[in-house]
Amino acid sequence: MSDTIEKIKCLIIGSGPAGYSAAVYAARADLKPVMYTGMEPGGQLTTTTEVDNYLGYADGVDGTVLTENFKKQAERFDTDIRFGLVTKVELSDKQGGIHKVIVDGTKEIVAETVIISTGATAKYLGLESEERLKGGGVSACATCDGFFYKGQEVVVVGGGDTAAEEATFLSKLCSKVTMLVRRDEMRASKAMQHRVNNTKNLEVLYNSELDEVLGDTVVEGVRISNSKTNSKHEIAVTGVFIAIGHKPNTDLFKGVLDMDETGYLITKGKSTKTNKPGVFASGDVQDKEYRQAITAAGTGCMAALDAERYLAALE
Ligand code: NAP
Repeated sequence: MSDTIEKIKCLIIGSGPAGYSAAVYAARADLKPVMYTGMEPGGQLTTTTEVDNYLGYADGVDGTVLTENFKKQAERFDTDIRFGLVTKVELSDKQGGIHKVIVDGTKEIVAETVIISTGATAKYLGLESEERLKGGGVSACATCDGFFYKGQEVVVVGGGDTAAEEATFLSKLCSKVTMLVRRDEMRASKAMQHRVNNTKNLEVLYNSELDEVLGDTVVEGVRISNSKTNSKHEIAVTGVFIAIGHKPNTDLFKGVLDMDETGYLITKGKSTKTNKPGVFASGDVQDKEYRQAITAAGTGCMAALDAERYLAALE
């Protein structure tokens, strides 16, 4: 092995709540973890403002501050946190095998265990007005931000289970919720559709797409276009929730790790084990059901414990 190759016990890829939680547990177990943050240190939490549902913060906490606290805690136990992007992986099939990882196209690392916490990215429509008003009323997470729209009128874009779930959740807080479904039917399960249709203050507009979010610095309304009638109309709302799906950040692992048909990594049973020995997955990259910071942190802890036990069993 050449001198330029770094050999480590535990590599953590990704720096959201799953990655940092894994780092704290792995560092305290003396695995001397090295974390590569990816291009968006902190992950999705840094795109939200106030986080009110992360246990332990009685008065809520800013998403960026929360991530900064995760980082400080991981550093307190000497996690080696580095800014960089993993660009290639060669994961061993053997028990006790060495996993080779390339960072930023050049640096080579070999690791006895790898914890993948690369998260998922919410899909957006790609409108200029949507991008400009992110944090000013445009959100991709009703569970995170819905509370701030109590008693107000909002729209939800999408017709899948997530959109249906977010719309019914919001209907309990908001005075009115309008769901914009682009086709003449929803993709959501029949049970979810039934719930939507039985919610009084929830209106579904079919064949309807979001044309533009209105407002300079905060959301004041939306312009909707109807593909059947070729007409457009505006409604006044203060919140816009985009719920058109997430994309797990797993391109790097295609053909290498087992994934479901939508690209989420598959873990075994209640563990964080992937199909490669010594490679574990935690957080949103393997979870399309819950997708919360606190559940991601929980599975990050599990991944570090799984890595520790895996190494102990090799001794
Ligand atoms: P999804 O099932 O892929 O649905 C995405 C929705 O967004 C569809 O209605 C789609 O319309 C619409 N859409 C996509 N791109 C759009 C665009 N550019 N403009 C307007 N609308 C657009 O995604 P999901 O709802 O996030 O669910 C992901 C997976 O998680 C699914 O398997 C789902 O069943 C599961 N899930 C389950 C639960 C639960 O069981 N409680 C909760 C949440 C999610 P089209 O139908 O026209 O493509």
